[in-house]
Amino acid sequence: MYTLIKNKQNCLAHTSNEIEFIVQNYIKNEIPDYQMSAWLMAIYLNGMNDQETMYYTKSLTNSGEKIIFKNLNGPIIDKHSTGGVGDKISLILGPILAACNCYIPMIVGRGLGHTGGTLDKLESIKGYNGFLNITNFKKNVQDIGISIIGQTNEICPADKKIYALRDLTGTIESIPLICGSILSKKIAEGIDYLVLDIKIGNGAFIKNKKEAIILGKYLKNVGEKFQIKVKYLITDMNQPLGNYSGLLCEVVESIKTLKGDGPSDILEIVYYLGEHCLKIAGINNGKDKISNVINDGTAYEKFEQMIIRHGVKNINIKHNPLESKIIKSKEEGYLNFFNTKGLGLSIIELGGGRKKIEDSIDPHAGFKLIKKHGDYVKKNDPIAEIFCSNLNKLKLGTETFKKSIKIVKNLPKKYKLIY
Ligand code: URA
Repeated sequence: MYTLIKNKQNCLAHTSNEIEFIVQNYIKNEIPDYQMSAWLMAIYLNGMNDQETMYYTKSLTNSGEKIIFKNLNGPIIDKHSTGGVGDKISLILGPILAACNCYIPMIVGRGLGHTGGTLDKLESIKGYNGFLNITNFKKNVQDIGISIIGQTNEICPADKKIYALRDLTGTIESIPLICGSILSKKIAEGIDYLVLDIKIGNGAFIKNKKEAIILGKYLKNVGEKFQIKVKYLITDMNQPLGNYSGLLCEVVESIKTLKGDGPSDILEIVYYLGEHCLKIAGINNGKDKISNVINDGTAYEKFEQMIIRHGVKNINIKHNPLESKIIKSKEEGYLNFFNTKGLGLSIIELGGGRKKIEDSIDPHAGFKLIKKHGDYVKKNDPIAEIFCSNLNKLKLGTETFKKSIKIVKNLPKKYKLIY
């Protein structure tokens, strides 16, 4: 392993066997975290070429089982985002696609860096089991069209372990590592079609359109080598999506959206990505189909059926945080969300994310935006409500939140939602 770290430090390409050696021995605990961290940092700094990225993706996938679905009566499809703040789209779009007669076997991750993870959000619902075995996961997909789990010891165990290490070693923002992490989960799920939402901006891992296109091309090329038809789209992450960011509060906002009462930015992204998901799978008139399943209640029904299958007993989900505080404007002017990453980090300070692997998570942590980027505020106008279960953490989270926004005299640059 020492030689392989030095090779990558010197920008030499790895062979397929070398990458397989690293991934296999890391999951068997034969390679310690300190050597794996050094290797990840060497990749972060010096990258991997297309061929190495393909080998890496294959090794992550082969660390566990690959699911095969037979005789399903519709397309097997998934959507995945590169991550952001308030990005709850998978919770909404998954059930919508299932209600449109697609099959959605979704394997997701926990929160990574400042971004929230779909698994953590689902686990904030009392009773939700995100680690079903393959038999039950497959059965849910076959019976109701959708199931959402995390990486397990059976499926993508290598991504599970490396993902957690990247989160704590500053090695998230690497195109080949992101590509391998996303695609290994998607290949293992047994899907035929994948729509990727590459987020760019001050709250995303990918900062601009140029980098997003490089990542998108990697994802498309590697995905297609594994017989998955991939479409990538680029959308904005220069402010949190929707009104709520955190855990349970995002689940409640997702349920409202599934019941037809969603905020406009969420709906725009849901319709945009959803239409592409249906189109790539050969289904036309996507927008009409999506609005039909929202309006006739079948999209919400899919969500409810899924959480019941995953162990939830009380589907009447409420978000009642113990501690909360209104953040008010100190002066008059326009709101500038110049640091959405900081807003994501405020959720971690509130207890809604991990600083160490063993940290437990407060499902009530999060914030509600009362005003958004570019809105005009007067002195003392409420900007946001911030909440969690612990007063000390509320203070820490509030400080980080306040440092991440500015009030400016001139209207700041407005961002478009879809690039
Ligand atoms: N989503 C993933 O699944 N993996 C990454 O590395 C980044 C976003």
